[in-house]
Amino acid sequence: MRVGVIGGGQLGRMMAQAGLPLDIQLSFLDPSAEACAAQFGTLVQGAYDDADAIDQLVANVERVTFEFESVPPETVAQIAQQLPVYPSAQALATARDRWLEKSLFQQLGIETAPIADIASQADLEAAVERIDLPAVLKTRTLGYDGKGQKVLRGQADVTGAFGELGAVPMILEGFVAFDYEVSCIGVRSASGELAFYPLVRNEHRQGMLYRSEPLAEHPLQATAETAVGQVMAALGYVGVLAFEFFVVGDRLLANEIAPRVHNSGHWTIEGSECSQFENHLRAVADLPLGSTETRGCVALYNLIGEMPERAQVLSIPGAHWHDYGKSPRRGRKIGHITLTATTADQLQQRCAQLEPLLRNALPN
Ligand code: AMP
Repeated sequence: MRVGVIGGGQLGRMMAQAGLPLDIQLSFLDPSAEACAAQFGTLVQGAYDDADAIDQLVANVERVTFEFESVPPETVAQIAQQLPVYPSAQALATARDRWLEKSLFQQLGIETAPIADIASQADLEAAVERIDLPAVLKTRTLGYDGKGQKVLRGQADVTGAFGELGAVPMILEGFVAFDYEVSCIGVRSASGELAFYPLVRNEHRQGMLYRSEPLAEHPLQATAETAVGQVMAALGYVGVLAFEFFVVGDRLLANEIAPRVHNSGHWTIEGSECSQFENHLRAVADLPLGSTETRGCVALYNLIGEMPERAQVLSIPGAHWHDYGKSPRRGRKIGHITLTATTADQLQQRCAQLEPLLRNALPN
């Protein structure tokens, strides 16, 4: 089977690697000739709203999926007229807009911080009265890795904040004093089969994911799976969906969904019976889903801006090296390392060996 993918970055690249043994070949639409997924599939070079390039992609595949959510809705509509698109246009439209996604969570009874829809500085002033400070102001669309958002701590931060973030539609959220952040990755096949990976604890540095570790038998696992399952059912979802939450005591507060394979699931390549990338392709191709069982103890580290010394990393037992083949640039995700171990103590030792070797160049 041939599957088209909108976007040709590292997520597409790892999807293509998972597709090879299943005899699923991928074609990517990406504006860059250097798209790093192209090493493992066919590249159609073109903008995401280039109708001719989209036609070229669609002509050679049987279905289409995505590796990022900020796809123009017209592109999704153009493709959906000709081929099955997974996840659906409705799922993408909801996930790319923070107001729509949080409104859906609330309709489904999934707890979130208090929210307000903001279309002007006056809306913002009124919402601050209701929600109170501190609060987080975010653009409704096109935000990622902490971009397009501002924490409002005092009245001075509120003044002019709507203009500062570009005077576009925004959402104001109450600030959550969370204990830590987790994500739950779920997958739903075209026939409605469901599977969930264990909750993953995520650590960020300057808004970017730095480290992820799956948590065995977490008391909030069932709550998270219910929320992921409800959202997937409401959206008629097909494929992998990542749901990010804040843990506050014994409560989960929903933050956001990503309608795609997710950075906090890269450890599943070596750490699960079946990786998120393979399960996404199985779901899209309507094949039976693979087991999401974890193999031993595992942790993931992102490589941002600069790679560490490869030979030093590979001298650590259980270290798995992933170079995305991208040119290094401050604040750019260019690879990751997965550490596997048989016990929690052994994993901790290996993490302590790896961490001093990392040379991450985070955004300024
Ligand atoms: P997001 O793009 O919404 O995932 O936000 C990026 C990061 O900002 C999150 O991973 C949190 O660390 C932090 N953040 C986002 N929203 C809130 C909030 N309402 N309260 C506290 N921290 C937040």
